[in-house]
Amino acid sequence: MNVNTKYNVDVLVCGGGVAGVSAAVTAARQGARVLLLEKRESMGGIVTNGYITGIAGHVDGFCKEWVEKLAETGDAIIRPHLPAIEPEAAKLMLERYLIQSGVRFIYGAHIADVTVEDNRITQVIAYTVGGMMIVRANYVIDCTGDAIVAAAADVPCEVGGFEFLGLNESSSLGFRLGYVNMKEYKEAEKQYYIDTKDQDPEKRPMFLQYKQLQAIEDGFIPEMLAPGSLIYPIVGDFSEECMDVNLDCTNSYYCENDNPENVTRQIVDQHRKAMLFTQFLRKYVPGFEKAKVEHLGDQIGTREGRRIVGEYVLTSEDICSARTFEDGVVIYGEPLDSHHPTCVTECAMRHYHSPYEVDNAICRPEQDADNIKMHPFAPMGGYEVRQNPRTFCEIPMRCLIAKGVDNLFAAGRDLSADWHAVGGVRVIATSMTMGQAAGNAAAYAVANAIDCARDVDGKEIRKMQIEQDVPLGKPLEGYWKKNAEMEGTTIVVADMAMILGNDGRTSFEA
Ligand SMILES: Cc1cc2nc3c(=O)[nH]c(=O)nc-3n(C[C@H](O)[C@H](O)[C@H](O)COP(=O)(O)OP(=O)(O)OC[C@H]3O[C@@H](n4cnc5c(N)ncnc54)[C@H](O)[C@@H]3O)c2cc1C
Repeated sequence: MNVNTKYNVDVLVCGGGVAGVSAAVTAARQGARVLLLEKRESMGGIVTNGYITGIAGHVDGFCKEWVEKLAETGDAIIRPHLPAIEPEAAKLMLERYLIQSGVRFIYGAHIADVTVEDNRITQVIAYTVGGMMIVRANYVIDCTGDAIVAAAADVPCEVGGFEFLGLNESSSLGFRLGYVNMKEYKEAEKQYYIDTKDQDPEKRPMFLQYKQLQAIEDGFIPEMLAPGSLIYPIVGDFSEECMDVNLDCTNSYYCENDNPENVTRQIVDQHRKAMLFTQFLRKYVPGFEKAKVEHLGDQIGTREGRRIVGEYVLTSEDICSARTFEDGVVIYGEPLDSHHPTCVTECAMRHYHSPYEVDNAICRPEQDADNIKMHPFAPMGGYEVRQNPRTFCEIPMRCLIAKGVDNLFAAGRDLSADWHAVGGVRVIATSMTMGQAAGNAAAYAVANAIDCARDVDGKEIRKMQIEQDVPLGKPLEGYWKKNAEMEGTTIVVADMAMILGNDGRTSFEA
């Protein structure tokens, strides 16, 4: 074996998605010597290479800094909820942050294995253009999205959801469409909701679903290609009549994201569906008549893969009951969002089942026990529990500390959480703030000569996060404050609990 490079650093970050870059920059800013390994040729992971340009979650700390910096050059739209970024500028800005904070990074470094001695990862082995690279580090942060390092180190890991017999959420490849008239599209969408205002809002199909139902009836498409369809404008110097947008909503099902043949099947399926969906949009949807695919994402839209079992497993109940923790290091105030593993008509499950009613949550007895589309393998029973849009929860530091190995943290979508919980907290802002917490914890451990991740006091990391603009323990502002104070009734639309305000708008739109 050609082993030509050896590094010895304080902190090794594995994976340069948004969680990894956030972890690396944060650890370096705290004085640690940091190396980041990334197998591709740019930073940002799914966000930039997979065209996921709308940022969900509470935008705090390093994420906020990044978005605000992008906005200075017109490369981000700042808004109270779901700010959007321009993916090419965003990846370059992440690279710039790494350089400016003194992080060493290597592209084309494919992490393949680790060596573990006395419960410590003593080396991480990556394949590179120059042969095998060996890295020794006091602490390793796994931000690969698939817990590659943790699995290689024999940390207990989980894949998929128990009620779906281990299947993962459906996957979707992000792609960029040009020549879209969003003005015309928005007018048509608005008109549809005016025309159907007397329909039950819980049963009325969303605009793009309705259009797909028409196309299915005509035999133009075989089935619902995109049951939930968010269209994100790509930021830029466009007019609303002719602009670029991104879509990440055509789904592949029966995903097993730790099986390479299954993942390859998803990629081929996604390429085909992106093109077919574009043909559908051109024919059926006002504003898309001239739409053209400008780029298919280079990274498959895996919503969740392998995740670690850590010192604490974040539960769906924690999210829905708005639980906070002494060692809470990240704020999460969005619903559960497990994109359905098997069903082409139900976009996502935004509820889990509990035998008892859960405080602070939106609970109702199971509505339709025979709904085989939502629960294909068995009716679940009990209460359907949903996140209350007026509340938010915290993620404790312990979810980022791997069990069984003393010097390993994880952040981003490979955190320790149950399946529905990861389906929620994996979003961009939350992943970045998890990365920030892991970066702080690793640097803190190095600076204080702490040998074991479990011995890092999570309350200290919480304090560091607060000092770095993560408003833990404070009342939230903006979209979240507005939701908390909104008057109206709770309804369930697209399986998500929302408040229907007295003005007819929902809390999701607030
Ligand atoms: C279809 C889809 C739609 C979504 N929609 C939204 C949305 O609207 N809003 C929102 O906020 N979030 C959304 N998300 C979620 C969010 O984008 C991701 O969960 C989040 O970006 C994950 O970031 P990450 O850094 O943990 O992982 P990733 O972005 O996957 O980063 C992992 C990085 O590790 C690298 N890597 C992997 N293996 C190795 C290896 N062996 N060696 C070296 N490097 C490696 C990868 O190349 C990658 O760069 C969506 C996700 C998907 C898939």
